[in-house]
Amino acid sequence: MKRDVVIVGGGPAGSVCAMFLLRQGITPLIVEAETFPRYHIGESLTGEGGQVLRRLGFEPQMTARRWPVKHGVKVYGPTARGSWFVPVTSRDADWRLYENITWEVRRSEFDATLLDAAVARGAELLPGRATKPLMRDDGSLAGVEVRAADGGTFDVESALLLDCSGQATFLANHKVTGPKYLGAYDRQVAFFTQVTGAIRDHGEARNEQPGNAVILYQQKFHWAWFIPIDDEVTSVGIVCPSAYFLEKKESKRDFVMREIRELNPELARRIPAANFVEDIHVIPNYSYQVRGFTGRGFICVGDAHRFIDPIFSFGVTVAMREAEFLAPLVRTYLEGARRDSPNPFADYQLACEQGVDVLEDMIDLFWEQPFTFAACVHRRYTDLLTDVFAGRLYEHQPSTGILAFRKLLNRTEERDRSYTDGDTYSIPIGSRYHPERAALWQGRGAAVATTEKWLAKA
Ligand SMILES: Cc1cc2nc3c(=O)[nH]c(=O)nc-3n(C[C@H](O)[C@H](O)[C@H](O)COP(=O)(O)OP(=O)(O)OC[C@H]3O[C@@H](n4cnc5c(N)ncnc54)[C@H](O)[C@@H]3O)c2cc1C
Repeated sequence: MKRDVVIVGGGPAGSVCAMFLLRQGITPLIVEAETFPRYHIGESLTGEGGQVLRRLGFEPQMTARRWPVKHGVKVYGPTARGSWFVPVTSRDADWRLYENITWEVRRSEFDATLLDAAVARGAELLPGRATKPLMRDDGSLAGVEVRAADGGTFDVESALLLDCSGQATFLANHKVTGPKYLGAYDRQVAFFTQVTGAIRDHGEARNEQPGNAVILYQQKFHWAWFIPIDDEVTSVGIVCPSAYFLEKKESKRDFVMREIRELNPELARRIPAANFVEDIHVIPNYSYQVRGFTGRGFICVGDAHRFIDPIFSFGVTVAMREAEFLAPLVRTYLEGARRDSPNPFADYQLACEQGVDVLEDMIDLFWEQPFTFAACVHRRYTDLLTDVFAGRLYEHQPSTGILAFRKLLNRTEERDRSYTDGDTYSIPIGSRYHPERAALWQGRGAAVATTEKWLAKA
């Protein structure tokens, strides 16, 4: 089998890549290992996530499906006395800020909607698992070996492979990319489930809307989320240092129940009785970064190359925005542009890295200096930071707000390039990965794959 573009993974990155490629006149083949709908975490969208969906024509469907409307994110401090709110915003063509809304979604249905739409618009779907990249003698990628649902394997040759495999990091695990490093937030663990009967806000103001995302802070790296995903069901997650969970010596269910009562008074008020309607899922060590994630014949998109921290809900937005940017590049590449370049997608890689670095600098300031951060959000850089919260990570960045954060974090110099293994594209001011522990990840499975092992050990 031979195709111009093969996409490994039919999550948001894969489906959105497919839909933007179709607009460029390219018909991709999507290889997806799971049967949809399937459970997935990542339910709260940002303003720019909503804008990508609008550009793809999904607004009527999102409205008709009655997904909870998100006007912003509300953050509660440890005592529940102080809370602050960041509204969802957009920018018009003249970069004027305006209020907007986005959505909270149940990922099983949302991902299935996107994948179905990609197929309805013309993409080919191949149910099966990508098992091995096919390499040419000159080191470029020539396609992928696929194991189909019936167990048979066959090769799919491609001019370009888009790795949209999420945390499975298909190409990084096969060492097609540069090394995969642990991110700065690796020693944490997230527990998450869904409950009914939770108490939501019901006011007129934007910060009292029932569909808003709520973040409940306990202390550094210890927090919870509360995200309504339909009229009845709320997604709840507890994130903490792994050591804290291990010290407690509780089952995951007891741990989550007690954390709901104790983590933050506002969380306890909102969930008076935990009526679980979903298993308790666990992801340890979710933070990582893959270097050299583009090259001859391949591009990694979304979680397939980097995930930093779930706080403030950026994952789906980053995946979809990266997917949108690459479509015109893929078209010119297939037409013959940059074929002789050592890395035809170097500029794209740099833009993606710089965008997520903006995000990481914001998140780091939140963790390192929460009071300064709140003051910056409220007073000093309000509009500039609503841009970052909305996922405008690539345009007009780094803003004066982000530059100020870098100063506060002492990150005004470029990081020592000796860690970059010859990868000279990135300017990773904010990327604090741990090369000394890289061996933990090289050639190993995804964080999700290690979860059961991690829990058993715990
Ligand atoms: C605790 C936690 C909370 C989060 N909360 C949020 C949130 O509120 N909002 C938000 O936007 N993001 C959130 N995220 C991030 C979000 O889950 C991801 O960023 C997002 O799902 C990335 O999309 P993706 O398409 O890159 O990968 P995925 O959604 O993971 O899709 C990858 C797909 O590839 C398939 N696949 C994998 N390997 C293969 C293979 N070898 N062959 C074929 N198919 C394969 C998988 O089956 C899967 O369907 C959270 C993440 C964590 C860890």
